[in-house]
Amino acid sequence: MRTTGHAPVVVIGAGPYGLSTAAHLHARGVHTRVFGEPMVSWRDHMPEGMLLKSTPVASNIDAPQPGHTLVDYCESAGERRYESDWDLVPVETFARYGEWFQRRLVPGLERVRVASVEPRGGGFEVKLDSGELCAARAVVVASGLTGFAHVPRALAAAAPDGLSPTGPVSHSSQHTDMKQFADRDLVVVGAGQSALETAVLAAEAGAASVRVVARGRMAVGFGDPPDHQPRLRPESPFGRAWSLYGLTYYAGTFRHLPAPVRHGLVRRVLGPLGAWWLRERFTGRVGVTQGRRIVRTRAARYGGALLELAGGVPIEADHIIAATGYRPDISSLGFLGPGIRAALARSGPAPLLGPGFRSSVPHLYFTGLPAAASYGPVMRFVVGTGYASRRLAEAITL
Ligand SMILES: Cc1cc2nc3c(=O)[nH]c(=O)nc-3n(C[C@H](O)[C@H](O)[C@H](O)COP(=O)(O)OP(=O)(O)OC[C@H]3O[C@@H](n4cnc5c(N)ncnc54)[C@H](O)[C@@H]3O)c2cc1C
Repeated sequence: MRTTGHAPVVVIGAGPYGLSTAAHLHARGVHTRVFGEPMVSWRDHMPEGMLLKSTPVASNIDAPQPGHTLVDYCESAGERRYESDWDLVPVETFARYGEWFQRRLVPGLERVRVASVEPRGGGFEVKLDSGELCAARAVVVASGLTGFAHVPRALAAAAPDGLSPTGPVSHSSQHTDMKQFADRDLVVVGAGQSALETAVLAAEAGAASVRVVARGRMAVGFGDPPDHQPRLRPESPFGRAWSLYGLTYYAGTFRHLPAPVRHGLVRRVLGPLGAWWLRERFTGRVGVTQGRRIVRTRAARYGGALLELAGGVPIEADHIIAATGYRPDISSLGFLGPGIRAALARSGPAPLLGPGFRSSVPHLYFTGLPAAASYGPVMRFVVGTGYASRRLAEAITL
């Protein structure tokens, strides 16, 4: 094995963040190896027929040179152009865009999983699923949503054999085809876009009944269409608001805020809210129970699951989908050796990052969702690549 001084930078992940970071590193002439399945979260962990909540302009994967936006892809592939705020981007189009971006800018991508990362000689030793050991002078963790799916304990209790689309309880990331719920009673827990859109897609696929269960009293809501945005506020990829403008274009100042403020903002800003265009498809098709905490769930006598709610009548369903999101907890990143995980300074369960997306472990960087606790909620979305990737590549080459 080579010494880490001549070793490549390793990027773990080939979703929007990994691909964008790798493209910026390549553009700077940095020897880089990139591992992962291109766009796998979008191809295998989101429902068919899903539409992106982000507008086309907020769905560009940042590249170091022009010619790699979503519109550029549509033109090059001869697909319909998605460019106005009224255009709704299908998840299938977005996945093809990412794969096109990868073929053009990260052609050397290796479709291999990283099994472990251990410190070695001032850098790292990276073990691949293929059995290969590779030295790395720096590692960028861009593993995205993988491993972070979150299901509250009260829900998981009804699935003692594990979460599964064919058992009583699953996580929303386990579904691509909603037709499996035809003629069945389905409960979706959650109030974010993923919960509301999953519920609508299941209802449209012929489910006998679909009910969304949410904790907050006014939890289920929808945003405003583009022509209802307030005029006297600055524009941002997420809509017109001072807060969204600041969080998008000044993400670097976010990490100077006190931890409780940062964590509160990550939870609340751009939090659970259905897209404006979903309201009509939702209303009248999907039942809603809100303002009730789930006390426990258990397997129902004739299959399916029973949901007990605080102060409410129990709800029985053939299946429960927990659309309860993702928690970026570094203890879930099994490929990072225990020594590295123990040495990482944290902000809540996420890594605490300094300038240039550096963690407290020298030469180890995080981008995407695990960076949100330090760089703000914009890191949960593709548009955050516009802030993160160039700065991260710069920090590595300094
Ligand atoms: C239902 C849903 C809808 C969403 N809609 C939008 C939207 O409309 N707009 C938006 O901006 N954001 C949206 N998001 C958020 C979006 O998914 C993330 O912003 C984006 O996917 C993050 O990209 P990423 O590159 O960090 O991770 P991912 O896209 O999750 O990619 C992770 C990569 O890491 C690789 N990987 C993981 N572990 C390993 C390993 N051990 N070794 C090698 N490779 C590994 C995987 O193979 C994959 O290539 C949505 C999320 C969900 C769940």
